[in-house]
Amino acid sequence: MQNAKTDVFVVGGGPAGLVAAMAARKKGFTVMLADGAEPPIDKPCGEGLMPETLAALRELDIAPDSGEGHEFRGIQFIQKGKRFAADFPEGYGMGLRRPILHAMLVAKAEKSGVRLLWKTPVSGITPEGVQLKSGLVPARWIVGADGGGSRVRRWSGLDELAQRTQRFATRRHYRVQPWSEYMEIHWAKGAQAYVTPIGREEVCVVVMAERLQDADFAKVLAELPELRERLNGAELASRERGAVTVMYRLKNVARGNVALVGDASGGVDAITGEGLRLAFRQSLALAAAMEANDLQGYEEAHRELAQRPMRMGKLMLLLGRNDALRQKSFGALASKPQLFEKLLAVHVGRATPAQMVRTGVQLGWRFLSA
Ligand SMILES: Cc1cc2nc3c(=O)[nH]c(=O)nc-3n(C[C@H](O)[C@H](O)[C@H](O)COP(=O)(O)OP(=O)(O)OC[C@H]3O[C@@H](n4cnc5c(N)ncnc54)[C@H](O)[C@@H]3O)c2cc1C
Repeated sequence: MQNAKTDVFVVGGGPAGLVAAMAARKKGFTVMLADGAEPPIDKPCGEGLMPETLAALRELDIAPDSGEGHEFRGIQFIQKGKRFAADFPEGYGMGLRRPILHAMLVAKAEKSGVRLLWKTPVSGITPEGVQLKSGLVPARWIVGADGGGSRVRRWSGLDELAQRTQRFATRRHYRVQPWSEYMEIHWAKGAQAYVTPIGREEVCVVVMAERLQDADFAKVLAELPELRERLNGAELASRERGAVTVMYRLKNVARGNVALVGDASGGVDAITGEGLRLAFRQSLALAAAMEANDLQGYEEAHRELAQRPMRMGKLMLLLGRNDALRQKSFGALASKPQLFEKLLAVHVGRATPAQMVRTGVQLGWRFLSA
């Protein structure tokens, strides 16, 4: 290892790191990637890939087979018997078990020529390269894709925060036939449950709340009789796992020859279902910036990519927190289904700024147009 060197060294082999590595390979760089864990790596996640997330993967010729997951056509909100749904303006989403997504990305990365080092934690970085137990690996570019608790972020002095909020989440898989063609978000007081169909006989359910004690299945399901009924008697298909979902923005995501991608570079609340799309889009933007030898270009692209999901994330948190606003807004959405379609179009980036302003005005949400 002492003499090995690479154009790009990616620290972390989660979805962001693997896609960043493949995007860099596609630009002709030699790429090495190290992760302390071993594939397939599981992680608590809602496991929903939005149409735009799938579109980002297609740019690297990656297309999950619908037999591996379960397609859904849009989003449905449900609260106290009120429900409203909207189809995605284009395409479909897909629920895909996290280890399946990971195994698929690992196979593709290997095939594209990325040198993958598993069970290989990175212990430090220098301007010359990346420190492994076996020695320093010289690298022109260092990509920090080491997740929300990123050490690369700290080592490179990029951990100055612009803003941060966090919530708690608990994930379960239930062995039950998906009952809806939509990804569902059930709203309770101070908590939400979202349900992603992920297979012919399986759904992924995540409950989320601002207080740890509220992200509790028994407590949340007690408030959601319809969902409780659906899950009643269904066998658990995995071990329950907890997670923290952090919404944060950094002042900078690149410095010198180091750049951050994925959760290491910022985060949006899990309820947006946008974490993976952002990670993949950032990875594509970073490869283009490294090719152009211009990490400033990546800074700008990253900031722009984060704007819409951040805004939608804040909106969801506000609706979760403010019962009166939620009742009023859901009343308006239930009576005008086309409004929810417009909101979903805004969410997936298929609305023009003018349409976004109009939707905000119709809902009385001035901040949507701010
Ligand atoms: C509850 C919950 C639900 C979510 N639901 C959705 C959803 O439905 N749809 C969606 O798109 N997004 C969702 N997200 C967000 C999504 O899961 C994340 O955005 C995504 O996992 C980010 O991937 P990543 O590769 O950046 O980080 P990670 O997956 O955390 O990967 C980081 C990797 O770095 C490795 N690593 C760390 N330190 C080192 C080191 N020093 N050396 C070597 N390796 C290291 C780790 O082992 C790990 O494999 C959800 C998140 C949560 C918490």
